[in-house]
Order: sequence, then C-alpha cells, then structure tokens
Amino acid sequence: IHDGLQNAEAVVKSVCDRHAEALSAIEDEYIRERVADIRDVGRRLLRNLSGQQPVSEEVGHEHIVIARDLAPSETAALRKDLAVGLAIDMGSPTSHTAVMARAMDIPAVVAMRDVSEQVKQGDEVLIDGNRGVLIVRPTPRQLEEYGRLAETRRSIAKELPALRELPAETVDGHRITLSANIEGVDEVDSVTAHGAEGVGLFRSEYLHLLSSAPVTEEDQNRVYCEVARRLSPQPVIIRTLDIGGDKLMTGAPFLPEPNPFLGCRSIRLSFLHPDYFKAQLRAILRASRYKNVKLMYPMISGVEEVEQANAILGEAMDDLDRAGEEFDRNIDIGAMVEIPSAALTADTIAEHVDFLSIGTNDLVQYTLAVDRVNERVAYLYQPTHPAVLNLIRETIRAGKRNGIWVGLCGEMAADPVLTPLLIGLDLDELSVSPPAAPLVKAVIRRLKFEEARAFADEAVECSSAGEVVRRARELMRRVAPEILELV
Ligand code: PEP
Ligand code: MG
Repeated sequence: IHDGLQNAEAVVKSVCDRHAEALSAIEDEYIRERVADIRDVGRRLLRNLSGQQPVSEEVGHEHIVIARDLAPSETAALRKDLAVGLAIDMGSPTSHTAVMARAMDIPAVVAMRDVSEQVKQGDEVLIDGNRGVLIVRPTPRQLEEYGRLAETRRSIAKELPALRELPAETVDGHRITLSANIEGVDEVDSVTAHGAEGVGLFRSEYLHLLSSAPVTEEDQNRVYCEVARRLSPQPVIIRTLDIGGDKLMTGAPFLPEPNPFLGCRSIRLSFLHPDYFKAQLRAILRASRYKNVKLMYPMISGVEEVEQANAILGEAMDDLDRAGEEFDRNIDIGAMVEIPSAALTADTIAEHVDFLSIGTNDLVQYTLAVDRVNERVAYLYQPTHPAVLNLIRETIRAGKRNGIWVGLCGEMAADPVLTPLLIGLDLDELSVSPPAAPLVKAVIRRLKFEEARAFADEAVECSSAGEVVRRARELMRRVAPEILELV
C-alpha cells in the first residue's frame, strides 16, 4: 500500500493473481485445480474489504438466495431445507444453475439482470419459480394472492403420489416412457419417488464438475454401477461427458475459446482426449453388466462423429475383453440430436444407433442463434419456434422410418403446457427432472392421443412461437385447467 500507492483491494487482487498464475503452470492436475480455491478466497477477501454483506452461508432459517450467478458446486451446496428459493442475474431456464435448482426442487428464477443489486440482505421477497416472477417487498394483497396459489399447488401435490405406479398413458391407451434426467447418484431416490421410469439422461459431467479431485475410471464406474443397480431393471441412459459451454471445469484440459458453445465442447473434447474418453466408455461398459445401461453421445453434428465414437467404443470393448471383464456387448447406443445438422441428417445417424434423444436446450440455441445462458437474448429463446418444431418432427419421423425410438430430454419436456404437443408429435419417451414428472404424467393421463396429434399438426403450421404457446394454453384450459393455474 505504501510503496505501490495501491489500495488494499488492488494488492489482494494482484497477490491472488500471482499465486493463481504460479499454480496454473504446475503440471500436477490436482495442484492446478487449486487455482479455483485461491480465486474463491480472493473473492471473499475482496467482498469483505469492500464492506459487502457476506453470502448467507450460515443463515439458520428459511431464506431465498439472491446472486449474480452460482457455480454448480455452489448450487449443489445449497441446503434444500433452508434455501426455499433462488434468484440470479445471469443464466436462462436451461443453464446449469437452473437445471440443478430444478433437480433439487428449489423454486428458481434466472436471467433477472440486476436482481443481486436491487435486493438487499433482509428484504422480504416472494418467488414464483413456475412463472419466473420475483416480487421484492410484496404488498399484503400479493401475499394473499400467492398464498391461495400455494394452497392450490399443495392440494394438487397431494394427489400426485397416487400417480406414481401408474403408466404415462393417454385416456385412449397410447403409452410413452416418462423417464428422468439426473446429474448424480443422489437423485436416484427422487426418480423412484416421483414415479419416473428409469433415467433418460444421466449428465455424467456433473460428477466431474462437483468434484475437487480428478475423477478416475474406477470412480466413474462405481457411480454408474450404483445408479444401474438401484434402478434395475429400469433403463439408465448414461451420456458421455458434455463439458464446455456453461459447464466449465477447473483443471479441465481445455484452452480458453472465444465461442465456447461453438468450440471444443462435449464429444469434440472427448475426441481430443481419446484416452480419457475410452476410460469413460470402459466405466460405462463395465456397469452394463446390470443389463439396464444404455450409452448416449452428446453434441453429434453428423454421422461421421457417431462412426468415430463407435470405433473408440469398439477399442474400449477390446480393452475389456483382454482384461476378461464382463459387459453387455449389445448395449444400446444413442445419439443426442441437439444440433440442427443432426436433425436434418437424422436418417443417416439413425442407421448407426439404437435410439435418438432430442436435446432441445441446445437445439433451440443452435437453431435460433441464441446463447442459452445470455439473459440479454433470453426473450428470443423459444422452444416452440416453428423452425425448432419442424426439426423435432423431422427427427421423430426419421427415427420411425429407421425403426428406432426417439425421446426428448430438453427442459421443454418438463413444461406441462407443452406435453400435449410433444405427445402429439409422437415421441416415444420424455425425460424430465424427477420433480417435474408427476405433473407431466398427470397431463398425459388426461389427454386423448388423437386430440394431441391433431394439436401437433396444427402447432407445426403456426407462424410464430407465441401462437403455439397461446394455443397450447387453450388446449390445457380444456383438458387440465387446474394445472394451467400453476404454470
Ligand atoms: C439439451 O441440450 O437439451 C440437453 C438435454 O443437454 P444439456 O442441457 O445437458 O446440454
Ligand atoms: Mg445439450
């Protein structure tokens, strides 16, 4: 401070930067990962020096967390019993923070721009995660209105457990599979408790995102086996690593990129590090001895990537043969359709896989050129855009032509208002976060398949995303008015 004529904050920052830089240069991956810890400590020091209120980690009563953004590890560290809501400036409904909040059943609103500056510690706030509303210092009338809504929600929630054992079947007997998206082994009980039929998407990258130490093949295998064993005989679809985009991992072997969502993300990163990829494939294959494990490749842009991935899978099988390890040689392989080029060439891709799963979170962003985590363009992020619906329909048709099943595991599958549309498009599977499964199932069980089909035909011809939503809400008003009240 004396010599450099800098203030304390600037000194703390430069010392932290120096340590972080020195650690980044070390070869040992574990040591390198400590950079994030140094930065975290630095941030806390700066927060205290600048007189800001500390994050309410020690709050012992129910509270709503307000932040600029949260890392996956910070979201996972929230106490479900005390953090009754979450609002952040950044993100979108499909960003990793929102995905995790949904999995943890914590009402969340995202893309609030400057909520973290507007709300002060101790303010009373009201949060409505279904409608994406946050009211700061609500009036008595608003509290009363939301009190009534909460009561309706509670009474519907009481009826939902009765659906647990019932199939996801329309009134006229059309049945689909309603499975769950999970990020880790902790959610397995929630899958069963919410009546989902197995796992349609296991986001395997969270194991890495939430761990401070490198994750080995053994670690991965242990987790996959536990999930497969506990859910057997229901299927468990394990997706290979989808790192990149907004799922960045400290210590991961990638370079900073100007456009991470268009860069070396997901399967591309796996191809860049084939040994690492092969280790994950072996971990999955070894869990396939439970006979309910399926494997899925993310971010496929065309058939060559499927062929390349399958070739590496063949090598992983050879490794296991040599080691005398047991695995399911006929394990089902799937490709995610989340890039328009994959949707438009789904016929060719379908020849090399056993199923397709449409990832609309990314399909929407890549079709509409809308960054899925940029709150400034969130208004353009429209899952019901006619272009997106056409790609979904064409993918489903390609699957049927090739005799394989097609599912959808993006967040739009969890929106009950869109359930009739997705059923009508003739998807074989919907995969949603476990807490979302009961409402979606409730809607399916009110529908007539023929009516849903007619609605889907009508929807794909609509000229705008807004019109599809309006018509979907009209249909819901007829088939499930009380559910519409909630969403
Ligand atoms: C998707 O893109 O729709 C998807 C399910 O994958 P993620 O959200 O993990 O990118
Ligand atoms: Mg995706």
